[in-house]
Amino acid sequence: MNSQTLLICDEVEQIYDWLDASINKIGGECSACGRCCDFKSFGHRLYITTPEVLYFKTNLKNLKQMTTDVCPYMEKGKCTAREFRFAGCRIFFCKTDGELLSKLSEQAVEKFKKLCDKYSLQYRYTDLKTALNG
Ligand code: SF4
Ligand code: SF4
Repeated sequence: MNSQTLLICDEVEQIYDWLDASINKIGGECSACGRCCDFKSFGHRLYITTPEVLYFKTNLKNLKQMTTDVCPYMEKGKCTAREFRFAGCRIFFCKTDGELLSKLSEQAVEKFKKLCDKYSLQYRYTDLKTALNG
């Protein structure tokens, strides 16, 4: 891992810490059923920013391709990439005020955009399949 990647990953981690603390304040309710990780059946999409893809691929040892409409890290109803999961995974709570979550999502995207500017990284906002298979 080069030093720039290390710095970016460190800042992504800080954004996730901020995000997790913000979500704790909102008090998102989730029974961890895993249904929202089956995107087609749930009618849900997951978009990911460039620094998050870098962070995920740098940290995760068992990288997988996405070949169905279900996230390949969902196994038996559990996320097997929980520690490194994306902002969209952290923010989504099916039973929580959608407006609050949208605001949080916009704030997170702004932070990731600024991170791209700071490190001259091309900003992209791609769906999970494109991000994992690219
Ligand atoms: S957010 Fe909802 S659908 Fe997704 S795992 Fe939690 S309870 Fe299940
Ligand atoms: S990374 Fe985890 S939480 Fe996010 S979509 Fe995949 S299985 Fe679900």
